[in-house]
Amino acid sequence: MNKKKTSEEQTRPIVVALAGNPNAGKTSLFNKLTKLRAHVGNYPGVTVEQKWGQLIHHGRTIKVVDLPGIYSLNYYSLDERVARDFILKEHPDLVINVVDSTNLKRNLYLTLQILEMGLPTIVALNMIDMAETSGLKIDIPRLEEGLKARVLPIAATIGRGLDNLLNLIPEVADRSDRAWKPIEISYGQDIDEALDRITTELNSSTIAQTKIPARWLAVKFLESDLMVDNQLQEEAPALWTALNPIRNQLTSHLKTTTNDEPTAVMINRRYGFLAGLKRLAITETHKDTRPVSDALDQILLNRLLAPLFFLAVIYVLYQFTFWASGPVVGWLENFFTLLSELTKNHLPNGRLKDLILEGIINGVGGVLGFTPLIAFMFVGISFLEDSGYMARVTFILDRIFRAFGLHGNSVMALIVGGGIAGGCAIPGVMATRTLRDPKERITTILVTPMMTCGAKLPVFLMLTEAFFPNHQAQIMMGLTVFAWIMALFSAKLLRLFVLHGPPTPFILELPPYRLPTLSGILLHAWERTWGYVKKAGTVIVAVTIILWTMMTFPNLPFQTQSDFDTRLKVANTEKARQDIESELKVAQLQNSLAGRIGTALEPLSLLAGFEWRTNIALVGGFAAKEVILTTMGTAYAMSTSSDPILAEATTPDGKSSTTKAKENKEVEEETLIHNLGHALNQNPTWSPLVTMSLLIFILIYAPCFATIAVIYKEIGLKWAAFSVVANTIYGYIICLIIYQGGLALGF
Ligand code: GDP
Ligand code: MG
Repeated sequence: MNKKKTSEEQTRPIVVALAGNPNAGKTSLFNKLTKLRAHVGNYPGVTVEQKWGQLIHHGRTIKVVDLPGIYSLNYYSLDERVARDFILKEHPDLVINVVDSTNLKRNLYLTLQILEMGLPTIVALNMIDMAETSGLKIDIPRLEEGLKARVLPIAATIGRGLDNLLNLIPEVADRSDRAWKPIEISYGQDIDEALDRITTELNSSTIAQTKIPARWLAVKFLESDLMVDNQLQEEAPALWTALNPIRNQLTSHLKTTTNDEPTAVMINRRYGFLAGLKRLAITETHKDTRPVSDALDQILLNRLLAPLFFLAVIYVLYQFTFWASGPVVGWLENFFTLLSELTKNHLPNGRLKDLILEGIINGVGGVLGFTPLIAFMFVGISFLEDSGYMARVTFILDRIFRAFGLHGNSVMALIVGGGIAGGCAIPGVMATRTLRDPKERITTILVTPMMTCGAKLPVFLMLTEAFFPNHQAQIMMGLTVFAWIMALFSAKLLRLFVLHGPPTPFILELPPYRLPTLSGILLHAWERTWGYVKKAGTVIVAVTIILWTMMTFPNLPFQTQSDFDTRLKVANTEKARQDIESELKVAQLQNSLAGRIGTALEPLSLLAGFEWRTNIALVGGFAAKEVILTTMGTAYAMSTSSDPILAEATTPDGKSSTTKAKENKEVEEETLIHNLGHALNQNPTWSPLVTMSLLIFILIYAPCFATIAVIYKEIGLKWAAFSVVANTIYGYIICLIIYQGGLALGF
């Protein structure tokens, strides 16, 4: 049966349409192919002359149609209409896009539009003889990879490359499925999202039964193309009514953010795509005068200057984020300190008070505490994106990232996630939306939480201070570098074994530079920040309560509890009381569900160097990484909140109670780090090797719950669960190797 189909195919005549700009050489090619035996007629319904001819190559009939010369596939001019209707209605087996190689920039614009329709296409780089004499070098494989189409250099008038062309025609025309596969150009996040929505709608309608790809219809619909609009309104009025609000919403959104129509933005992005392609695949020895954008790229994409400038930009981004968000973070901190003071003073002691204080206020405070940082980071990122610089960064780094199965667009996620210590995985995960390929996006999301985020920093500081006081800076730096290595290496593993798939072709988008509008930046930043609050907010409160419950219940056995009560009653000094209270806290924690899990895991975790108290802290680290520090404080019996010496040391001035409380908190934290470090240093179960193992485990294991919540909302429950389980097991295995290896080497 298969054989029959094949032989049928090979007798079928192939219909080829020649499309191209005026003067690209279509007629010259047509004459060479058909040996001047042209038939002349008219296109249906119009007085435009249609020329067609026939030839037989290796026994196969090839029918060639010379389309009118056009610059684009809009529906404005008669020539454009004729050319487009021929393609859409006659369904030629393939298009030979005749391109004037000496004027690639203008010619390739039509090429892109043809490729966006998706029918089988050969791009014939005509006048290659002239291009070569003028010093143009064209990297054909690169061009093919970028355009996802076959590209062939020819010179129609002297007959160069025509045999290759004739041989390629049946190969492309008989492409196994003969489906139309449109090239997908990224038009920026806003338009891409609208395109996706429209394509989905179109695919689920009867319109999609025709050969015309939904993606192309969607592109044309957003461009308010007359023909597509009319066709939809006539054939599927309900669908048109459903789609129209998407277009209107996008139009007004773009109006506020970029002060442009969708069509203008899309044209810009197409030229941006071509600019990128040109940079990668075409070398000109004679340079023409360049517009500002190209001149800037001369500097910003320069091999030597680009990395320096990039580092400087990232440095400024971080500085800006912390500088701008600092005061707001302070206000929020004051507010929550005030709130907990109020709760402390006005609610009766008991479980409910503990829940509200330690569970809810801490949980909500945790979510909101991140918000200013995230908001300002998004302001910075939006600026970089809207200005066109972000596209350059990904353009530069794409090659390196592709080696690890990632994409140039992954870089922002990793940097924001803590690629430079102090980021946050939540905006990092959200920054992956610019990735079009789902597998690359999921991979990026899964490795982003491995970076040194701001919450891991105090934990790292404490541990390095305790065990490597003389090499603190080096170890912190080493951890950041190690995080990068781990993320890239893990991405490679994921792409090899879990998310296997072809790499997307290199990035070509080089949209023109532009000065972003303030309203655009603020709107983009606001949308993302609000998205975070909405997404993380709901989940994290629930999870904080669960974690608090796990670390609180079950209660101590009645007998143990009353023993403690009795001892507390007879304690005669404040110091004695405090010691007993600390002891009670530890007993309580060990007895809780989290404590029991920590203890139960000890046989396994000890192999990597972690005893039960560390385990509890790591369980607490699910809530937020900085909780590791406070939980260790409790588990190693350090007082955290009621040290009278501390309280007195900071009272004598007349500061307001919130400022005092905040200062107390800071001093407490510093003291906690110091004391805990000291305690660990004295503890015989701890050693530099244990610390090393723990540092690396904290880097890799499950993300915090706010991040997990965002992963869940972005790519679903399956991957959220995967990130918890797989990262934890993965981290464990690595620490097992480090710890056991270290022991064997005698550390
Ligand atoms: P059309 O408008 O696309 O049909 O282009 P034509 O076939 O009329 O060609 C336009 C001009 O380009 C003519 O003067 C051709 O002689 C010239 N031309 C076409 N192909 C080539 C080529 O491969 N090399 C050179 N040097 N000139 C060419
Ligand atoms: Mg012509």
